[in-house]
Amino acid sequence: MSELISTRIRDHAGKLGLTHLVETVDQLAARAETEQLGYLGFLDLLLEEELGLRESRRFRNALKLSGLPHHKTLDGFDFAFQPDLDARKVRDLATLDFIDKRSNIALLGPPGVGKTMIAVVLAVAACQAGYSIYFTSLDDLVRRLRAAEATGRFNRQLAAYLRPGVLVVDGVGYLPLDRAEANMVFQLVSRRYERGSVIITSNKSFTEWGSVLGDDVLATAILDRLPHHCDVVSINGPSYRLKDRLILVTGGDPMT
Ligand code: ADP
Ligand code: MG
Repeated sequence: MSELISTRIRDHAGKLGLTHLVETVDQLAARAETEQLGYLGFLDLLLEEELGLRESRRFRNALKLSGLPHHKTLDGFDFAFQPDLDARKVRDLATLDFIDKRSNIALLGPPGVGKTMIAVVLAVAACQAGYSIYFTSLDDLVRRLRAAEATGRFNRQLAAYLRPGVLVVDGVGYLPLDRAEANMVFQLVSRRYERGSVIITSNKSFTEWGSVLGDDVLATAILDRLPHHCDVVSINGPSYRLKDRLILVTGGDPMT
């Protein structure tokens, strides 16, 4: 390719924001040459490379802004450690059908069994698939809504939690809420209802939510909406956090 043309392509690609093409135009042309690509094949290669790079950049940035505590994937989840957990159900959820159905997921169980990890895994998968996601602890959510209310910005803050296609609310039940806080959670849940998915993790069963939310009427109103269109995944088993301690105590792998 003449120097003049490739310079012009780089210039135009830059103006069009095709940043990958700017850097790789000569390599791509050389590859098309060796692979004897036709016109359509070359155009296809070029667009695929550009889009692939743009996608991975979007994924990385979205993860950075997502508030997720880590970016683990389902491959890292040891189902053998948690035999009572319905692995097929978790894998089904990882197909992300629930997002298009705008249905919710509740991960329930004692500390350390992997509730947060599964919520994160699903959120990472959703992010990779192009859905917008946001992760927050219930604590943080309530603190931010309270602060926003105090400065007259409640609706704007609430809108931030309504926007993502998937909102993870982690750790429901660790700290009890007062009535005003429970009311904020109710507003969030009722506004998101059938509009976007919520994944919640909780160490309390639904029947205990009345005491968590400090108000039976509000708890009922929330529970009227949340578990409707909701997959409940109960994880009852050993704490993964204690796994290494078990190994130390027994001097070997507790799984063997
Ligand atoms: P929970 O939210 O139920 O308290 P976490 O998801 O925070 O538990 O799990 C505690 C730690 O153990 C995390 O680092 C998590 O990634 C890891 N973990 C939990 N269960 C598993 C598992 N079955 N396989 C691999 N890692 C796990
Ligand atoms: Mg957790």
